[in-house]
Amino acid sequence: MAGVKFQNICKVFGKDVKAVDNLNLDINDGEFMVLVGPSGCGKTTALRMIAGLEESTSGDLYIGETRVNDVPPKDRDIAMVFQNYALYPHMSVYDNIAFGLRIRELKSAFWQLTHLGEAGKIKADIDRRVQDAAAKLDITKYLQRKPKELSGGQRQRVALARAIVRNPKVFLMDEPLSNLDAKLRIQTRAELIKLHRELKVTTIYVTHDQVEAMTMGQRIAVMKDGVLQQCDHPEKVYMAPANKFVAGFIGAPPMNFLPAQISNGQAGLYVDTGAFKLPLDANHPAKQLVGKPVTLGIRPEAIFDASLNNPIATTEHNTIEAKVEILEPLGPSYTAYLKAGDHPIQATIDSATRIEVDRLGKFCVNLDALHIFDSETDLAVR
Ligand code: ATP
Repeated sequence: MAGVKFQNICKVFGKDVKAVDNLNLDINDGEFMVLVGPSGCGKTTALRMIAGLEESTSGDLYIGETRVNDVPPKDRDIAMVFQNYALYPHMSVYDNIAFGLRIRELKSAFWQLTHLGEAGKIKADIDRRVQDAAAKLDITKYLQRKPKELSGGQRQRVALARAIVRNPKVFLMDEPLSNLDAKLRIQTRAELIKLHRELKVTTIYVTHDQVEAMTMGQRIAVMKDGVLQQCDHPEKVYMAPANKFVAGFIGAPPMNFLPAQISNGQAGLYVDTGAFKLPLDANHPAKQLVGKPVTLGIRPEAIFDASLNNPIATTEHNTIEAKVEILEPLGPSYTAYLKAGDHPIQATIDSATRIEVDRLGKFCVNLDALHIFDSETDLAVR
């Protein structure tokens, strides 16, 4: 097992497509790291550079202590799982899983010639490893089938078994669940987490799905336009996003952004959207931005129907008035589309609510969960 380290890594395609821009990222030995970001942000390119399928334009890449920029893919001791499974259609599931191990043994043909008596032992060892991987992924009963005789979910398990059987230093996974239907995706997600806990192999997992990132990653690295925006534990990225992009990308429904100003009067420090004002702690660093335009960020789940029994107390300072435009029932909650002055706001409201469409309602906001972004830099002010 080994960690992976990107040191000032750049990848430029052609003359000017900067797919990865000065990436510095240290992935710990045994860690489950998720690279997440919208389409085209450079996450697949970063992954392919670890595999050696893409050469970096500049910078240094390490697997463990070894600088691997010039190490060919076959010698990097990594296993990759793709979205499209990439199984050999003419081979049985068993042979698909065993293939890589057999090739490795064939390569040491000279060794075999000098140890002919051990051929049976090698075969038995491969069989034990295939059976073991198949059992871990619950596909033992399909070992004699061809890939076309399997469902998408079963094929993806075969691809995973083929990766784990090799006992690599690092697993690379490129959107491995995106061909599965929603239910199977959630189930396989949980199984992958369990598998990682058991095998403890460094895993780098690429996805554009922030829910997948939040639920699977021990840490998540959020990328945009080839640039790493923030890398931290999922809770930290959610609670304290580094900038407006990360704040809007992580969390569903997404964070509400409202243009606002910071005011500091007799009554104290406030963030003022024009439609409503919310108090800030007297020492909030936004104090430096009095009179300047900022963006106020409020997550939908930080807004409550003021008439209900909420985890936060309703006070005159944290209550806003808004018109209810749409109510989307989700079972345990509603997504309420509100309008406060001219500002559209989404709120996740408990299903016990009595608010009605086209009526004004009172909503209280968790003041400890406000986010202020500098409108010039989009960086979080904290
Ligand atoms: P997706 O989720 O859509 O796969 P991604 O975040 O994985 O996106 P990459 O595939 O890494 O993004 O691509 C990053 C950027 O590099 C994109 O602008 C893409 O068009 C460009 N790119 C990727 N591969 C090549 C290539 N072989 N030649 C030229 N440009 C490329």
